[in-house]
Amino acid sequence: MNTVATVLKSIAVLILLAGSGYVLYQQAEPFLTPPCSKPIEYTIGTYDPRFGVSESQFKLALINAASVWNTEAGKTVIRLADADTKNPLPVSLVYSEVQKATELGKHISAEQAEYEAKKAEVTRIRDSFAATREAYERKTAAYDAAVKSYEKDVRYWNEQGGAPPEEYAKLKAKADALERDRRALNAEADEVNAFAGKINTAVAELNGIAKKLNAKVGTYNKHAGEDFEQGNYVSDADGERIEIYEMKDIADLERVLAHEFGHALGIDHVENPESVMYFFNIGEGLALSEEDKAALRTVCKLH
Ligand SMILES: [Zn+2]
Repeated sequence: MNTVATVLKSIAVLILLAGSGYVLYQQAEPFLTPPCSKPIEYTIGTYDPRFGVSESQFKLALINAASVWNTEAGKTVIRLADADTKNPLPVSLVYSEVQKATELGKHISAEQAEYEAKKAEVTRIRDSFAATREAYERKTAAYDAAVKSYEKDVRYWNEQGGAPPEEYAKLKAKADALERDRRALNAEADEVNAFAGKINTAVAELNGIAKKLNAKVGTYNKHAGEDFEQGNYVSDADGERIEIYEMKDIADLERVLAHEFGHALGIDHVENPESVMYFFNIGEGLALSEEDKAALRTVCKLH
């Protein structure tokens, strides 16, 4: 009988928020416009529906991410651009292998749960089969013993030159009973075999699912386990822009947007891992840490 394959591993992904344009930005225009003197005006660059986020959800996430800084600054430092704004900061959703891998990871988690449930069911049925087969084997052993006892009696009476009518009748009755038992056991054997066939099919199916799942895990693993950029604020010869490459959900998107807006304001990474401006996106929610707030005060010269 086949065994059930369980070679699935869960993979921890560490997400990298990069701000590679920050240094360029500081070098390029440190004296042209004092930081936070006029609001950064963003606009939606490219919107990609493959992220599974509607355009209105994206717009709302941008508003929420901007308001984190506006609220703390006590004034508008980031806002949606007007139609006549010159060179607004485009914020784009850039779909890539990274997001594909994230989606695949979500599917794998769901399918793994399904697989585990199915495996538990198959294991239960297999245990029940083992009990059925044991019962059958016990009956078979009892039948074999009864046959041996009958044959011994027959041999005995044959050695005596034949059984008297009374003994002969007893032996005949015993033989008939054994024949009934044999037929019943054979019918039961058919049932046990059919049961075994069903379990083998179920196990083969389960192994097929495991194989497919493991192939997906393999694909996913190619993209997992390494740092990757979830978003980026870029300022180069082509201008400024924010690109978002990966999100698990809306809350995650808002956090990445708040982080990249922070870079756009001129804020660098801070140390506390809970911070919006920490290098890795490992915190939760949109609340600014003391380090985030201090960095905003310094950059925007707030007192
Ligand atoms: Zn960053």
